Amino acid sequence: MPEKTIFSRIIDREIPADIVYEDDLCLAIRDISPQAPVHVLVFPKKVVVSTSDITEEDAPLIGHIYLVIQKLADQLGISEEGYRVVSNCRTNAGQTVPHLHFHILGGRSFNWPPG
Ligand code: 5GP
Repeated sequence: MPEKTIFSRIIDREIPADIVYEDDLCLAIRDISPQAPVHVLVFPKKVVVSTSDITEEDAPLIGHIYLVIQKLADQLGISEEGYRVVSNCRTNAGQTVPHLHFHILGGRSFNWPPG
């Protein structure tokens, strides 16, 4: 059995986290090392390793997560001014947790290109 990801341990309440949203399919928590005034991570309860590991079967799950992101952005008060959604995939993008997740970043403006 592969080692549980840190996010699976948070889902199972083995590690504490500031949970901002939960439903049957996903969880959203505040990032432990925020890079913006608002920095929330949304991830599926099902372990999908990265964007490159999403399958056809996961398509409704990913759509659901994007609707949760939209709802959270409203609740967090960042949708009017705008926000960034980031999912780092594998080594070159700097993915550190091998459990697909979406960063919601808001409350300040962001540069492009991202560097
Ligand atoms: P990645 O680098 O994989 O795109 O993003 C992983 C994110 O998870 C990082 O922003 C990091 O700060 C956050 N993170 C890692 N461990 C924990 C933890 O135990 N709790 C919380 N709330 N965030 C974490």
